[in-house]
Amino acid sequence: MQPVFRFAPSPNGHLHLGHAYSAMLSARMAHESGGRFLVRIEDIDLARCTEALVRDCLEDLAWLGLEWQQPVLRQSQHFERYRATAAELEARGLAYPCFCTRGEVAAAAHGRRDPDGAYLYPGTCRHMNEEARAHRIGAGAPFALRLDMQRAMEAIGGSTLEWQELERQELKQHELEEAGIARPVAADLPRWGDVVLVRKDCPTSYHLSVVIDDALQGVTHVVRGQDLFEATAVHRMLQVLLGLPAPRYHHHPLILDGEGRKLSKSEASTPLRQLRMEGARVADIRARLGF
Ligand code: GLU
Repeated sequence: MQPVFRFAPSPNGHLHLGHAYSAMLSARMAHESGGRFLVRIEDIDLARCTEALVRDCLEDLAWLGLEWQQPVLRQSQHFERYRATAAELEARGLAYPCFCTRGEVAAAAHGRRDPDGAYLYPGTCRHMNEEARAHRIGAGAPFALRLDMQRAMEAIGGSTLEWQELERQELKQHELEEAGIARPVAADLPRWGDVVLVRKDCPTSYHLSVVIDDALQGVTHVVRGQDLFEATAVHRMLQVLLGLPAPRYHHHPLILDGEGRKLSKSEASTPLRQLRMEGARVADIRARLGF
């Protein structure tokens, strides 16, 4: 099977050096394994992702010399698909509406957080009776949809979830086919609260749409930053609940320079456009990131 890699930015702002590293690494691994490389625009946050940012993002990637297969999937054009999947999970009793405000969630969390840093939701709306729910929805109260983690665990039969984490960055085709290069990682689900599947302010969430689209696009290898390592547990849960295949993952360290040293936060978050305006050439950027 031909490997499929992808880079999936959220154009809430301009791409920076950290994105450049992730995109170039994914593209290089695709190239070296004889695979395909896709770009997916994760523009679900309609308030923040503007057309200009999407255009600039693709232009920055092209400026870096990256080439990707068409078409580019834009998540904002597929809200119906995410909505249908969320409705399916709700119909199976695995998701429920949550009316809490941010402030209420923060107060109820008592300082506890999910592994991704969001306040841990203690399940305030999980036990609301049907009548109260219908009443609030009928009154037009805005709500999110949350995954009932306890029921989800039961639904997967208590089996421990895991994923294959690729250890190395330079992978040739024959190596990809050898099981030995990936280590199994146990998905640490008990540390998560009931995560949001559909946000109040948009018809999906990062977790829901990323697993749907990785499956839809036949992505076999997800290359992304270490900051999303923990989220993979949630993604594996959704993949199993929805009967979707499990890609392999490579979570790379948050970016390194040519000598393998971590870049400072401010350096890593410098927009590529700014560097370009200051006269940086693509060759400089590639060298700086070790490509
Ligand atoms: N869209 C996400 C981001 O820009 C990354 C998605 C992923 O690689 O899974 O942070």
